[in-house]
Amino acid sequence: MKTFLALDLGGTKLLIGELDQSGKILRHKRYVANYANQREAVELIKRSLDDYIATEGWVDQDLPVAMGVGLVGRVDPCQGIWLQIDPRRTDPIPLSKELSEIYGMPVFIDNDVKSATQAIRRFELKSDNFVYINVGTGIAAGIIAGGKLIRGSHFNASEVGHNAVGVDLGITCACGRKDCVEMIAAGIGIDYCARMLAPEFQTKLNIPEGARVDVEEVFTLSREGDPLCVELVKNASQALAGLIMNLVRVVDPDTVVLGGGVIADGYLHGQALVKLNPTTIRFVTGGVVLTGLHPDLIGLIGAGAVAMNNYDKIDEAQYNHCSLGE
Ligand SMILES: [Zn+2]
Repeated sequence: MKTFLALDLGGTKLLIGELDQSGKILRHKRYVANYANQREAVELIKRSLDDYIATEGWVDQDLPVAMGVGLVGRVDPCQGIWLQIDPRRTDPIPLSKELSEIYGMPVFIDNDVKSATQAIRRFELKSDNFVYINVGTGIAAGIIAGGKLIRGSHFNASEVGHNAVGVDLGITCACGRKDCVEMIAAGIGIDYCARMLAPEFQTKLNIPEGARVDVEEVFTLSREGDPLCVELVKNASQALAGLIMNLVRVVDPDTVVLGGGVIADGYLHGQALVKLNPTTIRFVTGGVVLTGLHPDLIGLIGAGAVAMNNYDKIDEAQYNHCSLGE
């Protein structure tokens, strides 16, 4: 049986799994991810792979035919180079080459949200024009236009979290701009806004020192009419609707797909849907929908899709041939 090894490195967790060609996860294991920079992350990746192979092994006797790796930050998928996680500092690492030499299989790498976008296209939505928006700790997108994943001149396209979207709260984002949607509608944004607005609104919300507010709790309290949480959800859903409508005007997609930990339970999705202007989204015939791929596993399935998309193109032993994420 032909299988693919997938590795998904997030901010706090690392998943490794083996998938079949239909995208089904045959087995997988979760690791705690603790790293301060790319070098530490690479060591963590190798340690985790060694452990996975020792403890889980392969489903079949044969090695997986290729490995896909989803990473935070900028990635050059053609050269297999992980460029950056810290926006202030680039530290290019030839990760594909390093890992393929150690583990004896072709290795393909990509950004995590762009990987998830490939999973959606390969397993869920046969569309040449769609937008995937990941709403998690931060916000980023994957844009498929004319059948191609948009990457930009520095592999930095679709960082849509850093757009102002018509909700003016006077927040200065770390990127230098004001009122970026990420600072209002993502996990870090809801936390930031809760602290900023808490003096103005009554609330039962627990705002802990040294940890982020629990978004699930914000949504539960919002449903109960808690004044602060109602305000947070109003701002977040308005900002998200603004982002969706901006992207629709730029890309003209047939579908907008949403995913990520903050949106997965459907509450913020529902709140944003009612704020969409029907005229703006009239050509979005596939709708503004939640992905059916599990929020905890979409990154792993995405890494698998990266392996498969690239493996499909190396049948003439073009080891480094790059599909550019189709
Ligand atoms: Zn920003």
